[in-house]
Amino acid sequence: MPTILVTNDDGVYSPGLLALTQRLRNIGRVMVLAPERNWSASSHAKTMQQPVRVHPVVLQDGSEAFATTGSPTDCVALAAAGVLDAVPDLVVSGINAGHNMGIDISYSGTVACAKEAAVKRIPGIAMSTVHPLEVDFDIRVLLEKTAEIAARISRVVLARGLPPDTLLNVNVPGAEPDAIKGMHITRMGHRRYDADEVIERTDPYGVPYYWLGGSRPQDVLDDGTDVGAVANGYVSVTPITLDMTAYGFLDALREWKLE
Ligand code: MN
Repeated sequence: MPTILVTNDDGVYSPGLLALTQRLRNIGRVMVLAPERNWSASSHAKTMQQPVRVHPVVLQDGSEAFATTGSPTDCVALAAAGVLDAVPDLVVSGINAGHNMGIDISYSGTVACAKEAAVKRIPGIAMSTVHPLEVDFDIRVLLEKTAEIAARISRVVLARGLPPDTLLNVNVPGAEPDAIKGMHITRMGHRRYDADEVIERTDPYGVPYYWLGGSRPQDVLDDGTDVGAVANGYVSVTPITLDMTAYGFLDALREWKLE
């Protein structure tokens, strides 16, 4: 039986992590190691200036898991280094409370866990769906559906592997399961935060402070992209690579004669 590490960036007690863990037990031996608090939008943060602790916790269904004081990607690095019983054959991160599409991929701790898996030469899958506050039905049915999709993709990834430096970023529409139309293989699309509001308030001592990240992004709903597929009711599966070279600009940059 394959060993699967389940982790996330929402914290070890997130309902999305529990749903994913329960469903993946049907296809492998599941180990859970996740941050003890919410690290959403922490990207690929790595704890290097202080020690990281790992301690056992009990999930809501009574099962054993581990929590860490470290970051989301620290969890993957710890597991890959053999800190748990076994080195995982697959890392599945999520289910994140909120989609990770377009430029979200750069901010996301959920996706970074799958990236860290790729760094460690372990196949990685990031799973995200809508934030519970954005739907008017019981989110648990959607988490179960998303976990089922994760299991289906995981089975194929375990059988076929992924190319080097490559991970899968999966987004499930925020719809009741019956309304999900199917699955599209997509490219990374455009989600714009250029109109992001920064809210300034004043604390009781008269000193200003700021809230970031409360605005809704503008999605560019191109065909074939993650944001487009999800907006049209399809599960989006995007292959992501660690290589961030702007290949389309290489030749033009050479013509600048900087060398
Ligand atoms: Mn999150």
